[in-house]
This record gives sequence, structure tokens and C-alpha cells, in this order.
Amino acid sequence: MNTQIIDGKSIAQSIKDELKMKVQTLREQGITPGLAVVLVGENPASQVYVSNKKKACEYIGMKSFSYELPSETTEKEVLDLVETLNNDKNVHGILVQLPLPKHMDEQKIILKIDPLKDVDGFHPQNVGALSIGLNGLISCTPAGVIELLKRSQIEIAGKHCVVVGRSNIVGKPVSLLLLREHATVTICHSRTKNLSDVLKQADIVIAAVGIAKFITGTMLKSEAVVIDVGINRDENGKLCGDVDFQSCQGVASYITPVPGGVGPMTIAMLMHNCVLAATNQEGVLN
Ligand code: NDP
Repeated sequence: MNTQIIDGKSIAQSIKDELKMKVQTLREQGITPGLAVVLVGENPASQVYVSNKKKACEYIGMKSFSYELPSETTEKEVLDLVETLNNDKNVHGILVQLPLPKHMDEQKIILKIDPLKDVDGFHPQNVGALSIGLNGLISCTPAGVIELLKRSQIEIAGKHCVVVGRSNIVGKPVSLLLLREHATVTICHSRTKNLSDVLKQADIVIAAVGIAKFITGTMLKSEAVVIDVGINRDENGKLCGDVDFQSCQGVASYITPVPGGVGPMTIAMLMHNCVLAATNQEGVLN
């Protein structure tokens, strides 16, 4: 079995190029989508994410508004800033970079974001919309997983998908999206018994565990499709996923690498959400 590698970087690039054309058309109509990014504190990983998001905005021709606040900022100051951004007509998307400093209630801040501008898809209104099949903004990493499968011509309908992980930002929403695509979905977590037996039945495995190289080739059914959401460091400090990439060679039919798989899709889908939010708010037909 020749295992094919899904090139997330190149798929993400195609999405950004499509969005660039869409933004050009919007700009000709006098609409420039705008994303506001709020960063509190000096978390180095968050600083890298925020800078990549700003670069992506620039690439596709969107405006970005950046608010980099010191870690002593109060919760009230962040809530007030979100309120101002909710009312700003030039801002179509608001992203508050998580994690926030410990003295802030993340949920309270997420709840404050106008659901129409919630491009991370974390507001309960958007989460609820996803769960009952209404239109809304879908969180970026789970949306990226579905887009990777679709753009690699991998059929989801009728397939048995095993999602390992049940977090609010990856495991749960990706499971709902797979269900919406007519898959049969099994969700596994730390209390799941005989995980290997469950994985052996999977046509498609989505790994979102947060443990380096946790899923190995011997746990898979032959020709399974493997989507690795994990971002970890291995024993040598090298970036790796939740899946042991090497041992899946020759067993999996398709696999995403880390880095270069799901990661680049998250930003592409964030840009997609910003453009969608702008067209919704400006009353432009998609
Ligand atoms: P969380 O820590 O929030 O969730 C991990 C999940 O894995 C939990 O549901 C947990 O179960 C489950 N789990 C832990 N140990 C086991 C085990 N031994 N067997 C089965 N399940 C287990 O992580 P996230 O969902 O936030 O992130 C998962 C991974 O994805 C991380 O590596 C993270 O860095 C990465 N990530 C990547 C993104 C990207 O853009 N590519 C974006 C977001 C995350 P339980 O609920 O029972 O505790």
C-alpha cells in the first residue's frame, strides 16, 4: 500500500488564493473585510500565531486591526474593547487569542463577542447552530479537517470516522461536522476502553489527543485515512503530531504530516470565516 501524504500547505494556499479573488471583488463593491485580533500578554506561541494571522490578512487583501495589550490589562478593559469592536463597521471579524491570562474568564469574553463577528466559532450561539444544522461560523481547525478530506476527494458519507479527543475546540465540533457529512461517528477519550479495537474499525481516524505519536500504524485498519490534528514536541524537541507518522506508512491510504497538514488549514479557514462574516454583515450574496 502506497500511503499518500495530504499536503495541507498547498491546499491552504489554494483556499487563500480563492479568497484573495473574492476579496478583490468585494473591494470593487466598496467592501474591505476587516479582522480585529486581540492579544493579551506576552505568550511567544500566541505572538507567532497572531503575526501569521496578520500576514494572511495582508496576503488576501483584508484589513487587520491589531490590539496587543499588556498582561496586567483587566477583564473589564478587554470586555470594553470587544464592545467597541462589536460596534465598529470596519471590523467584520473579532478574534481574541487564547489562552488569556489567568485573571480573566475566557468564557465571559467569548460570550461578549457578537456571534456574527465570532470568526473563531467559539460563541455558544455558533456552537449551537452547528449542533442543530443551522448556518453559523464554524471553528477553524475542525472546518479545516473537513476541507482537507473534501479537497483530497476522500468520501466521508457512510464512512466510520473515529475521533480521538472530545475537546470543545477540536474533538466535539469535528465530530458534529463529520455527522453533518453523513459519517458514522465514534468519539473516543481518556476513559475509552480498548481504544485499539475501536481504531481498527475506523475508515477515517481524526487524532486530537495532545500526546506525541500516540496512535501507531499497528492500531489502524489497512487503508485507513489518518488526519492528525496534534501539535507536540517529540523527545528531541522536534514538532510532531498525535500519530506516529513513520509506522503508518504502508498501512494508511492517506495521512496528514505535522507540520504541513492541519496546521496551515486553521489560518486558511479563519480567513474564510472573515470573508463570510463580511459578506453576511454587508448583505452581499455569497
Ligand atoms: P485537549 O487537551 O483539550 O483534549 C485532548 C483530548 O484527548 C481530551 O478529550 C482527552 O480526553 C483525550 N485524551 C487524552 N488522553 C487520552 C488517551 N490516553 N486516550 C484517549 N483520549 C485521550 O486538547 P485539544 O483538543 O485542544 O488539542 C488536541 C491536539 O491538537 C493538541 O496537540 C493541540 O496542540 C492540537 N491542536 C492543533 C490545532 C491546529 O491548528 N492544528 C488547533 C488546536 C489544537 P478527556 O476529555 O477524557 O480528558
